[in-house]
Amino acid sequence: MYERILLPTDGSESADAALDHALDLARQYDAELLVLHVVSAAYAEAGPGHANAIGALEEYGEETFDEIAERAEAAGVRMTSEQRHGEPHQVITEYATEAGADLVVMGTHGRTGLQRYLLGSVTERVVRTSDVPVLTVRYEGEDEE
Ligand code: ATP
Ligand code: MN
Repeated sequence: MYERILLPTDGSESADAALDHALDLARQYDAELLVLHVVSAAYAEAGPGHANAIGALEEYGEETFDEIAERAEAAGVRMTSEQRHGEPHQVITEYATEAGADLVVMGTHGRTGLQRYLLGSVTERVVRTSDVPVLTVRYEGEDEE
């Protein structure tokens, strides 16, 4: 059923909770884990003064990949990582199709939003537009409202 599982991550605890599910499914189905980090276009559009923010986000994404790679290796799961720039929800759905993902696993929330919203805006838009099934995972953190 599943051969390529896409985990879009913003490095949040919510995305980390999604990773647990993605890794377990990848192991059960002998699927490959595709990890995607999108550097939001919002920073580029904010002007040249945000070059530092873009660089920091790129670095943060790479560090997140390293952490996930360790977890994937420990679980015996094959993994690829991809960093792109653009509008997160758009890049995620495009990449899912391009990479031939048959499942997307992502957090209900991320780094930038408010817990009291039912779903983060990136997840909401991916759920609405994705051609492949989307599994959303809620992180039961301390700061739950
Ligand atoms: P909002 O972004 O609407 O302020 P939020 O940050 O709480 O709210 P989302 O951004 O929708 O919620 O995050 C939900 C999930 O979407 C994350 O757990 C992660 O899986 C994915 N995600 C969010 N941003 C990115 C990104 N830049 N790159 C890759 N995946 C992302
Ligand atoms: Mn967000």
